[in-house]
Amino acid sequence: MKNLLSLFLLLVNAGVSIAAEVVVLENESLRAAWDAGRGTLVSLKDKATGREWLDTAVQTPGYTVQLAGEKSPLTSGNATSVRARKEGAAVVVEAEHPGRTVICDFRLETGGSGVLGRIALRSVEPCRIAKVCFPLVTLRLPFSGTGEDDRLLWPECDGSLLSNPLQNKPDRRFPYPGNASLQLMAAYDGTAGLFFSARDATGHAKAFCSRRSGSGLELSIAHVLPQTPVLEWKLPYDVVVAGLKPLPGMPGITWESAAEQYRPWAVQQPWSRRTMAQRVAEGDIPAWVAKPNLVLTYALRGDLPDKSQGNRQPLLTDMVRRWSRVVETPVTCLIASWEKRGTWVTPDYFPPYGGEREFAAMNQTLQAEGHRSMVFLSGLYWTLRKKIGDEVLDQQAEFDRAGRKSAISDAQGEPLLRGPAESDIGLAATICPSTALARELLAGTSQRCQELGIGCVQVDQIVGGGLRECFHPGHTHPPGGGTWSAEALYRIFSEIRQAGRARDPKFVFSLEEPGEFYLPVLDTYHARDLHQGRWPRSGACVTGVPLFTHVYHEYLAGYGSEGCYASEHPSQLALFQMGSNLVCGKAPAVALWGRWVEPEKVNKVQLRLLRSHLALWRGEAGEFLNYGRRVASPALAVPALDMVFVEKDGAKRPQKVPAVLHARWQLANGRTATVFACIADKPVDFVVGKERIRLEPGETAFRPSE
Ligand SMILES: [Zn+2]
Repeated sequence: MKNLLSLFLLLVNAGVSIAAEVVVLENESLRAAWDAGRGTLVSLKDKATGREWLDTAVQTPGYTVQLAGEKSPLTSGNATSVRARKEGAAVVVEAEHPGRTVICDFRLETGGSGVLGRIALRSVEPCRIAKVCFPLVTLRLPFSGTGEDDRLLWPECDGSLLSNPLQNKPDRRFPYPGNASLQLMAAYDGTAGLFFSARDATGHAKAFCSRRSGSGLELSIAHVLPQTPVLEWKLPYDVVVAGLKPLPGMPGITWESAAEQYRPWAVQQPWSRRTMAQRVAEGDIPAWVAKPNLVLTYALRGDLPDKSQGNRQPLLTDMVRRWSRVVETPVTCLIASWEKRGTWVTPDYFPPYGGEREFAAMNQTLQAEGHRSMVFLSGLYWTLRKKIGDEVLDQQAEFDRAGRKSAISDAQGEPLLRGPAESDIGLAATICPSTALARELLAGTSQRCQELGIGCVQVDQIVGGGLRECFHPGHTHPPGGGTWSAEALYRIFSEIRQAGRARDPKFVFSLEEPGEFYLPVLDTYHARDLHQGRWPRSGACVTGVPLFTHVYHEYLAGYGSEGCYASEHPSQLALFQMGSNLVCGKAPAVALWGRWVEPEKVNKVQLRLLRSHLALWRGEAGEFLNYGRRVASPALAVPALDMVFVEKDGAKRPQKVPAVLHARWQLANGRTATVFACIADKPVDFVVGKERIRLEPGETAFRPSE
């Protein structure tokens, strides 16, 4: 039987027509064929190039349905009978399992180039569905040639790209909402590409997954469901598989092809109703966010001018004034290590380190002088134990008394922990967003911060607005996935922002890393477009790309993180990071944390780049940098710099970067322009159109298109 099947697949692969055995959907870019008797995809062909994407040597089921409490999932491979048939314009795959039927239907997108799919389940007895993987395909590796040009695009935070998945491990899972900031993956090389997405507008829990499977690359979307008993269930949104095309003016397919394929759907969703320009004009985002300012991360604990360690709170105001003088703009001071008991120790924050009265007076002075102050809340973590210096802080008893019953837990009500005590966050539980305690921890703490003069609060450590599933039997939400977690967080974020705005019309709310679902309740976001070679762009041969920025920048711009390096000495890293913030349309940032750095002594090239970024923002480029839409930017003919980025664990990630960073932007009125930043240590000459441009180290340029 197995031999016969292999022979059949061989014939299908060889293009031998067995009309009775396959059913086909086909549009101008893609041809998909299903085995009529097994219900699985047997061919996925790019029509322009004739490229066959599937690795049919790997037995991949068309779906997996994991029921709660069952050992192994239902798959098209273990069904008692499967049939794929054409039903009008659709392909329907129907699989019988004992007492259950799984139906997948596929149809061509009207007016688009995708194949859309849905999956449904009918059951004789009520059943609880934990997870459904659909679609599920295994791609042939390499995509072409040696695999050197193969790329896998991940929706990870700001966006990331894995080179050559044949050589480099692709095993990753990105939960959405959360580490997946949007609902898209893509596989491509220069000549052909495959696009993989979900079209869910209501924040259903899911994950975008890639892994090696045998000789191939498996891609899937795992839909994580609320585990309430059902007789019938249907995926309430489409999944999409589509071909990719090169964009006009681009030499071949790039990650931007996938971003542009996603965009038409993305900008019609509830989170894209108003652009950032509209929101600022209508007062929905306070005007100061869109005006030049420098985000300065300064820790209250750290180095003192005499090189000893201590309380830097009394020195903060002067430091902000000095930075402001040097860059000639107001400063948004991101006050780190403000928490009473230690950095990231939560939720016992108050009084802030250095004293409540002093903290409030400092914020008042900053505000009176035109600056803003900002803090991070440690999400919904509850620190149980954390090693600080030689001591271990222990808050277990207080957690058991006040937090335990509200914590994200397993089905037995046992809190799910992260740790260990030696880590940056420490050993911690997470409070479930559905509980009253979650509201109190986030909205209550935000209010208290505001009362002490904080003008911007960021919910940190709930990356992209995603938390783990909770199964606590005593909570009001259904156990497992679904929409309840995203909805609960959205409500809390919205409340923080509205209450904050009622107290201070200039109050601003931010989130760690972007998440499309939350755009309307954010005034800015913590972006990391500037990072390479470390989270959220970690791993061998992983490169960060500004995917979220490309799709959504005109809806929200973000700021250049708490991690933009600056120093008194020449630093390639600092220039790369500052330049990335500029060309990605982010508010510029400088991260001191606990270092003592005299702003007047900062390396002149770094200062030139920072000041130049702010000057561009003040001028004609400002509208593009704040409100523009990023457009595909063909590579510049400039020398490559060999850089080595370093992961948090010390692993080295060599990468070539262009000596001049650049990006193209477009306004709603169609005008386009390009910004350039020279990050080399010597002048660089290059040609744009008919113009030869020469930039000194740290110098920038702005060129509107003719
Ligand atoms: Zn819960």
